[in-house]
Amino acid sequence: MRAHRIAALCLIWSAAAAQAAELFPLRDVRLGPSPFLDAQATDLHYLMAMDPDRLLAPFLREAGLQPKQPSYGNWESSGLDGHMGGHYLSALALMSASTGDPDVVKRMNYVVAELKRAQEENGDGYLGGIPGGRAAWRDVAAGKLHADNFSVNGKWVPWYNLHKIYAGLRDAWRYGGNEDARVMLVALSDWALRLTNGLSDEQTQTMLKSEHGGMNEVLADVYQMTGDRKYLDLALKFSHQALLQPLQKGEEKLTGLHANTQIPKVIGFQRIGELSDRKDMRQAAAFFWQTVVEHRTVAIGGNSVKEHFHDDRDFSPMIDEVEGPETCNTYNMLKLTEMLFLSQQQGSYADYYERALYNHILGSQRPQTGGFAYFTPMRPNHYRVYSQVDQGMWCCVGSGIESHAKYGEFIYAHDKDALFVNLFIPSTLAWREKGIALTQTNGFPDQAGTRITVDGDARFTMKIRYPAWVAPGQLQLRVNGRALKVDARPGTYLGIERAWRKGDRVDVSLPMRTRLEQMPDKSNYYAVLHGPIVLAAKTNPFPAEHLNFLADDARMGHIAQGRVCPL
Ligand SMILES: [Zn+2]
Repeated sequence: MRAHRIAALCLIWSAAAAQAAELFPLRDVRLGPSPFLDAQATDLHYLMAMDPDRLLAPFLREAGLQPKQPSYGNWESSGLDGHMGGHYLSALALMSASTGDPDVVKRMNYVVAELKRAQEENGDGYLGGIPGGRAAWRDVAAGKLHADNFSVNGKWVPWYNLHKIYAGLRDAWRYGGNEDARVMLVALSDWALRLTNGLSDEQTQTMLKSEHGGMNEVLADVYQMTGDRKYLDLALKFSHQALLQPLQKGEEKLTGLHANTQIPKVIGFQRIGELSDRKDMRQAAAFFWQTVVEHRTVAIGGNSVKEHFHDDRDFSPMIDEVEGPETCNTYNMLKLTEMLFLSQQQGSYADYYERALYNHILGSQRPQTGGFAYFTPMRPNHYRVYSQVDQGMWCCVGSGIESHAKYGEFIYAHDKDALFVNLFIPSTLAWREKGIALTQTNGFPDQAGTRITVDGDARFTMKIRYPAWVAPGQLQLRVNGRALKVDARPGTYLGIERAWRKGDRVDVSLPMRTRLEQMPDKSNYYAVLHGPIVLAAKTNPFPAEHLNFLADDARMGHIAQGRVCPL
C-alpha cells in the first residue's frame, strides 16, 4: 500500500516545476570520510600555512601604515596586490563555517581587524591593495577613463581585484558572523557609490570593459543586507550591457571573449534578477548557463582554452593547447549553477554540478601536500602544475582555497517541506527547523550507492536525485529494507513523503555504466566515463625528471610548459 502511494507521488514530483529552494547554512553540514573531507583538511592546512600579515601588507601599505611583513611575490607584487587577501578572507569564513575550527575563526577575525585598521586610516571607506590605487581612483572619479579587457588607466583589473575584498567582507559576515565585516562592506560600497556618482552610464560601461569580477553581484548582496535601493541601482549600473543585451535576446556571442570575465557578471545578473523584478536578467543567466554547459563544456565540466571561449564548432584548440579549462571558471560556473538550481530545481543543474565538482574542482588540488592547478590540459598525455604555498598567487589559488572549504554547501537543499539530496557525499546535516539530523554514508563513487539515516522525527518529503548517468529503471530504493517502486526518470528527483522516525534508513542503489562521451564538436576525441566520473590512465611518457609539477613564482609559472607528447 505504502509502496503504491509513494510511486504515485514520485511521478507527480518528478514532473512538477518547483518553488524556490534554499541552501542550508554551511555550519549545519559536516563532511564524513571521503576524498572531499581529505581535500578540506588539506586546504585547511594550506590556509593556515599562508601568512596573513604578508597577505595584509598591500592593504596596510596603501593606507600609509607600516606592514608587519613584506608582501608575497608573484601576482601579489605585480599589480594585483591584495586580490589574494580578499579570497583568503572568504576562504577562512567558509572554512570556519565548515569545520568550526577555532584557529580558523581566530585567523579570520584577525584579518578583519587588520583590514579595519587600514580602512579607518583611509578615512573614506576605501580598502584595497592596488598599488597607487587612491590616485588611480581619483582619476576614475574625475571621468578620466581608458579601459581595455585587462586594465583601467593602466592598472591591472582594479575592480576585479576590489571585488575580492568586497566578497571577503561579505563572507566574513555571512559565514563567519563578523559584524565589523558587515559595517566595513557597507562603507566600501558607499565609497563606490560616491566614486561613480559623477560618471555617466556610458563612462561606467567603458570602465566595465575591464574584468570586474562579480561587482554587480556583491552590490546586489549589499542591497539585500541593507534593504537600501541605492545599492541595487549601483548593481544595475555595474551590469555590463555588452554581455547582457545579446543574452537577453537569446543570442550567443561568446566566441573570443575572456571566459572567466563573463561568468561572474552573469552570476550578478541572476542575483539582481532574484532580488528585483528583472526577470529578463534571470532569463539571460539561464540562457548563458545552458549555452556554456551544452556547447562549450568538456567532460570534466570545464570550459575555455587559454582562458577564452573558442569557436564552439571547433574543439581542436582544446586538444592542441596546454592551457585547457581554467579552475576559476568552474568555481564560478558552480556558483551560477547553485543559484539557478535554487530558483528552479532541475536535475540538469545538479548533474552538471556533480560532474564539475568531482572531475574538475576536487581534482584541481594536489593531494596530501596541497597546492592548486590553474589549467587542466585536455591535451592527451599532458600534465598540470600546482602552486606552492608561498609562491603561486594566481586567481586559481584564490578561488581554490575557497572551493575546498565549502564542499558541504550543495549536498543538500530544502524548501518548506522537502529536502533535496543533490550529491552523494558522506556528510551529516542538522535541519534545525525540523529538529532532525540526517547522515549520509557511502563509499561513493567506488561503491555505486548511498545510505541516508534519519535521526529524529519529522514529516517531510525526501527528494533524492535520480542522476542522469543511471539508466532508466535501474535506480533502486529501499526504506528500512523494503523495496519501493521508483517511477522517476533519470535527470529528475524522486520524492518520498513520510512521517520520518528516528532510525529510518534509506538505501539508494545507483548502478554505474561505463560509456564514451564525444567532444562537443563531434570530432574524433572521446572521454571514458564510469557513472559521473571521467576516467584517466596513468601514463609515463617521459622520465619524470623532465617534468616539474610544482610551479615557481614566475609570472607565467602556472602554465605546464614542459615537453608535450605528439598527439
Ligand atoms: Zn583562475
